Amino acid sequence: MYKLTSLALAVIMVLGIGHQVAAESGHDHNSGTINDLRQMTPEKLRSYIQENHDMCRIGKAERLERARQLQLEESQKNADVTQWQFDVNYYEIYFDINFTTEIIDGYVTMQATSLFDGLTQVQIDLYWDMTVDSVIQNGSQVTNSHVGNLITVTLDQPYDSGSVFTLTTYYNGHPTEGGFQAFEFGTHGNPPVKMATTLSEPYFARTWWPCKDYPDDKADSVDIIIRHPDNFVCSSNGTLQSIVDNLDGTKTTHWQEKYPITTYLVSICVTNYMTFSNWYVAMNGDSMPVDYWVYPENWSSANSSYPITVDMIEAYAQKFGEYPFIGEKYGMSQFDWGGSMEHQTNTSMSSSAYYQSIIAHELSHQWYGDMITCENWHEIWMNEGFASYSEAVWFESQGTFQDYINYMNGMRYTGGGTIWVTDTTSVWSIFNSRVYDKGAWVLHMLRHVVGDQTFWDILAAYYDDPRYKWGNITTLEFRDICEDISGKDLHEFFDDWIWGEYYPQFRYSYIYEQYGPDDYIIYLHLRQTQTSNPQVFDMPVDIDIYDGSNYHLTVVDMDEREEDYIIYMNDAAGAPWSLYVDRNDWILKSSTSESYGFHLIYDPLDDGTQYASYTDSVIAKGGTEPYSFSIVAGNLPAGITLGATDGMLTGTPTENGLFTFTVEAVDNTSNTKQVEYTLTIAESTYIPGDADGSGSVDIDDVVYLINYIFSGGPAPTPIDAGDADGSCNVDIDDAVYLIMYIFSGGPAPQSGCVSG
Ligand SMILES: [Zn+2]
Repeated sequence: MYKLTSLALAVIMVLGIGHQVAAESGHDHNSGTINDLRQMTPEKLRSYIQENHDMCRIGKAERLERARQLQLEESQKNADVTQWQFDVNYYEIYFDINFTTEIIDGYVTMQATSLFDGLTQVQIDLYWDMTVDSVIQNGSQVTNSHVGNLITVTLDQPYDSGSVFTLTTYYNGHPTEGGFQAFEFGTHGNPPVKMATTLSEPYFARTWWPCKDYPDDKADSVDIIIRHPDNFVCSSNGTLQSIVDNLDGTKTTHWQEKYPITTYLVSICVTNYMTFSNWYVAMNGDSMPVDYWVYPENWSSANSSYPITVDMIEAYAQKFGEYPFIGEKYGMSQFDWGGSMEHQTNTSMSSSAYYQSIIAHELSHQWYGDMITCENWHEIWMNEGFASYSEAVWFESQGTFQDYINYMNGMRYTGGGTIWVTDTTSVWSIFNSRVYDKGAWVLHMLRHVVGDQTFWDILAAYYDDPRYKWGNITTLEFRDICEDISGKDLHEFFDDWIWGEYYPQFRYSYIYEQYGPDDYIIYLHLRQTQTSNPQVFDMPVDIDIYDGSNYHLTVVDMDEREEDYIIYMNDAAGAPWSLYVDRNDWILKSSTSESYGFHLIYDPLDDGTQYASYTDSVIAKGGTEPYSFSIVAGNLPAGITLGATDGMLTGTPTENGLFTFTVEAVDNTSNTKQVEYTLTIAESTYIPGDADGSGSVDIDDVVYLINYIFSGGPAPTPIDAGDADGSCNVDIDDAVYLIMYIFSGGPAPQSGCVSG
């Protein structure tokens, strides 16, 4: 579904005000009120429409009744467990549309498979205000009770798991409008021509036909057979089977959808349409019709705007995989709603908007939404985020990468709330710009996180995955595909963006030093300052350093709220001129520079080896020198000390293992920073000076060395164990060194050349 544009919102408001004022005060709408509405913020507008749109069309008594029924529906949500005990295979929908009485009258046959041993009762969704004449099974009437928006049917016998049963429900009535539209009798043109169209998403198919109205139970196929005035045309899902002239002023049009389809995507459009067609040539050379049903008064607008659809199918087929319903058609039928709706193989198009973005959006839903459908309405971004992202994909295919980025920047959503919809009780809580725009940004960001080629590989794998093709998907299942294809752990990414709120607010600062003719070292301090959840968006961040003529790109991984990075730059063109965080807008973010404070920079320490001399340092930058350093928690390995004024870690470790310690650095104005470091010291295979390998250093080692040097005795193992003075030779000096150590308090033996 295409979100309502501001233009469309204005249209609805004008309609809404007209109805409301007429109903409640008996006056025509006044433009002053409309102007007041035009000055409302989008949020206020949305809530105004939410309160008034549906209710403005009916009187007060009816409103109360509607509210009561909606409440009833809510209370029944937990009661309809028998709906999960069967799986629908097929529907045949037949009804006659009487445009004078605005009554539809017909039947729906449902074939389903029991999922439960001894199934005796099933429940079918149908709104309370439709009349059920009878429910027929195997030629006989079976008991039904229609309470609230559910028909409870007692089957003619118990059905065990795997067995198939068929029910035909005869019904009639004037369908209640619900949600965005449901079934609508309306008019178009001047003079007005009657029309009947539908928009059932998310759970309003049940207002006009009896069905199991949940997105995760797709019928394998559906026949849709509509009797309508003979001067009207009926378009619907799938392929046209027949049009029969009943010679009584009516025709019967039969459509058949042979691909799996969920209830909210079943649609009919009936009025005095004019039609035209294009052909799409598939990647395998087959041709498929692209059919348009347009109001006669819109003939020229549609003729100039719609044919680009063929190019779009081609572009998407190449990016996402072949058009999913290639054995049937792609159709677009005009209707009178402000937005548009991706009915399977037959999108309902707003009769007032011809934007490429809308055409592309609905078309892409044939892949994302129709072929693969969100498992439930919490997951609606799997439909709408993908379709909104596909708009940008279309413009990228027709232009430059910058066009793509610009389009994405036009869809920035910076408000709160999670993309995963928590409240699915109204269309307004489900279909908000968060799932459209921020949902699109999640895919845009994913593209950068996994890399361009991998991203398209993910979409290809998603399209082909037999677990989801023609079926349903959840965010977590999609995450698993992304992880499989990319080899990356994306748990944090999806957690942050789908179940978190807002976006990272970056603050950055940096200083640089020159350490060679063209060599620079840049110290970058980057932090996230948002106070919402998550506190840390864990993802790679592009850092671009500009030298006055070129950008030097470094990608840093940010998984802490505050991090320091050291970036080396070799640049003959000159010193760093400026620095950009996510210059190409791969992240939904804000980014502000700040002055560089005093920082103790976490830079992983080099590993050391036991008995080998060690040198590394902790680095403080910024603030006012001189600095002082101390250990405030944990322990250094024995033999290593921290220089109190230079931050140098030096010495010869005599123990091995993993050492964790916290360094505190203080600058001259008492700015204090603490960083926890880890230092790994590998175990030595020998004790320095232990020439005979006895496990201790004593006079026997001196004897052993003399024996080796002068009498051809065995060599120390390894030879470095005998190199007590670290000279890289084993000779009489080592024996002397050991004697000094053992008897005269000389320095400890060194670990030979290993110390190098
Ligand atoms: Zn959509």
